[in-house]
Amino acid sequence: MNCKEIKTLLSVCLDNELKKDEENLVIEHLKTCKNCSLELDKFKQIQKLFSYKEKVEPAPFFETRLFNRIHKKEHAIGLSRVVKRIIYAGGGLLFISTVLILSMFLIPKNHSYEEIQKYVFQETLDSVNKRIPLESEITNEDVISFVIYNG
Ligand SMILES: [Zn+2]
Repeated sequence: MNCKEIKTLLSVCLDNELKKDEENLVIEHLKTCKNCSLELDKFKQIQKLFSYKEKVEPAPFFETRLFNRIHKKEHAIGLSRVVKRIIYAGGGLLFISTVLILSMFLIPKNHSYEEIQKYVFQETLDSVNKRIPLESEITNEDVISFVIYNG
């Protein structure tokens, strides 16, 4: 019998379900083969672990306490999701306002003050009192809408 055949018999051997002649073959093989002996030791250790596991009884109300813990954890995870959403929303607002503030500084570089004033003047003519706006009356909103409508 080769090692492969012996290994298939080892677990059966541990359960004491081998025929006498098979058992003798295994015993003879184990005397000379270190590999299969080690394999048998492993099987024995595994068997020990399983027999030990069967003796362990869960603590009283183990299941109830386990599920309580799981529910608490789930609740904590839900809260952290809400916090994350608030942080993302805040980050979005911060980004948008940063872009707006930056654009207020960058826009005047592309258009001369006269262009902007002309535009605001035209706008005012068209819509309000037909009067020329003073420099101090030109707001950031005027600058932004000038750029938006005139590229
Ligand atoms: Zn062997």
